[in-house]
Amino acid sequence: MSKRANPMSVKAAMSYEIGEAALALGKTPATIRNWIKDGLPVMSSRKPYLISGAAIREYLRAKYKSAKRPLDADQLFCPSCGCGRRPLNSLVTIQALTVPTSLLKGICEHCGGTNTRMISTARLSDFERAFVIREGPDSDA
Ligand SMILES: [Zn+2]
Repeated sequence: MSKRANPMSVKAAMSYEIGEAALALGKTPATIRNWIKDGLPVMSSRKPYLISGAAIREYLRAKYKSAKRPLDADQLFCPSCGCGRRPLNSLVTIQALTVPTSLLKGICEHCGGTNTRMISTARLSDFERAFVIREGPDSDA
């Protein structure tokens, strides 16, 4: 799978010609044309096509989101297994990263690797039903 473009490398309020969008995103113009065929909206029906930065961001976010497998409520993501797995004994630690986001960590019950899941701290109560949550170490990284 090719490297993902960063949606934030285009400005939402700007519009881009295909070559400019390709440059900003580190992609080839052919890739941008493929995205247009795939549904990325253009602002004009005639060449040169102009694409709004906001449309590019929205397109990429939707594209990458649909490529992700959603996790069940009682799963963390296991990078070794490449999919969602239940943590061993449903035991996870929690680490507050920023005000809105926390990181859950557990041990994969399938392979024993470290599994993680970023959650919205506001949704913590949903996960307290599925997991035994303990306070993790403070971030010292
Ligand atoms: Zn695993």
